[in-house]
Amino acid sequence: MAKIKMTTPIVEMDGDEMTRILWQMIKENLLEPFVELNTEYYDLGLEHRNATDDQVTVDSANATKKYKVAVKCATITPNAARMEEYDLKEMWKSPNGTIRAILDGTVFRAPIVVKGIEPCVKNWKKPITIARHAYGDVYKGAEMKIPGGGKVELVYTADDGNESRELVHNFDEAGIVQGMHNINGSIESFARSCFNYALDIRQNLWFATKDTISKKYDHTFKDIFREIFEEEYEDKFKEAGITYFYTLIDDAVARVMKSEGGYIWACKNYDGDVMSDMISSAFGSLAMMTSVLVSPEGYYEYEAAHGTVQRHYYKHLKGEGTSTNSVATIFAWSGALRKRGELDGSKELMEFADRLEKATINTIEEGRMTKDLALITTMESPTVLDSEGFIKAIAEKLA
Ligand code: NAD
Repeated sequence: MAKIKMTTPIVEMDGDEMTRILWQMIKENLLEPFVELNTEYYDLGLEHRNATDDQVTVDSANATKKYKVAVKCATITPNAARMEEYDLKEMWKSPNGTIRAILDGTVFRAPIVVKGIEPCVKNWKKPITIARHAYGDVYKGAEMKIPGGGKVELVYTADDGNESRELVHNFDEAGIVQGMHNINGSIESFARSCFNYALDIRQNLWFATKDTISKKYDHTFKDIFREIFEEEYEDKFKEAGITYFYTLIDDAVARVMKSEGGYIWACKNYDGDVMSDMISSAFGSLAMMTSVLVSPEGYYEYEAAHGTVQRHYYKHLKGEGTSTNSVATIFAWSGALRKRGELDGSKELMEFADRLEKATINTIEEGRMTKDLALITTMESPTVLDSEGFIKAIAEKLA
């Protein structure tokens, strides 16, 4: 069988530990036999990031701007223990953070739904995709402990020196205070990423804030979304047969619990932080989630939502068997290949991505899976495969 050709490369960002091992196995068994892989390779493994003073991370993000599509392996974000373990020159920043800052994107995460791994919420039949705004609010807040009586005000000093003030509270006892901000430009980028992604995957978009209480802060989010929708997206949504739905955050939560899923839920930074963990744990596990960073300019970076699975890697180094779930990493590749096919008009590549995902899901639905899934499946006596065995089982189906 002739291999599928790729006209334009995708940016390949290799990573660390157990996911780096899976990366290689996936390429060898599931991609290279079927596709003439055309990638521009960047080694984001911690050793090479350290050797290049993290320049490789920046280069890989810039390459993503050039080619529009990237696929990323999980990477170590260094902490004190890693400084010693890898003898690092510096405590390099999170590669995901660096890449996100360069591409200015929004991360969309959706569970991979398979029969036999049932969501805790019975009526959830289709995935719920969370889009989290990744800038500002409490994550960039300024806080103070107020020791006792006194007045706290918000003061804005304009560039021309003009001042405006807003009373926060007249304290007559000890308390706490917090100031936070966001930027219209960032909210606009977030809105456009969400609208574009909804059109991309043809799903309805929900957005919610607490604008009835926060009449300026949250209301601005609501207004910006509404204006951009009306000016730039309303007609396109109509054509695609999808809707944009805005409601209050408490109403949204109530509706999500009663829904059957199948939509994108755009969340402010804090809401997204909290809700994405709720969704992933209720649907199964982090190893069964897709994750893609979408920039407002239309750059896409696909990754797994989980980390490098350090504990399994140390077992692997000792020569012990591992049963690490590669589904999220496989779906990062299929997502990137499908997008490449779409942008280049290659139906073959898009169909291959579909087949790869189907083969992965069918393998699990036939009862062959890694240990993490065997522990939570409703199937009776599943077959537990090791890391390589699972990938080889998928390869057999693909062939
Ligand atoms: P982790 O996701 O690697 O592991 C968390 C837990 O989930 C562990 O018990 C692990 O065994 C289990 N788990 C996760 N993925 C699994 C899989 N595919 N199959 C089976 N079990 C799985 O997170 P961690 O242990 O907090 O972090 C390990 C390293 O990963 C750290 O160095 C961290 O910086 C990095 N990390 C990277 C990313 C990323 O690049 N996207 C995200 C999170 C953490």
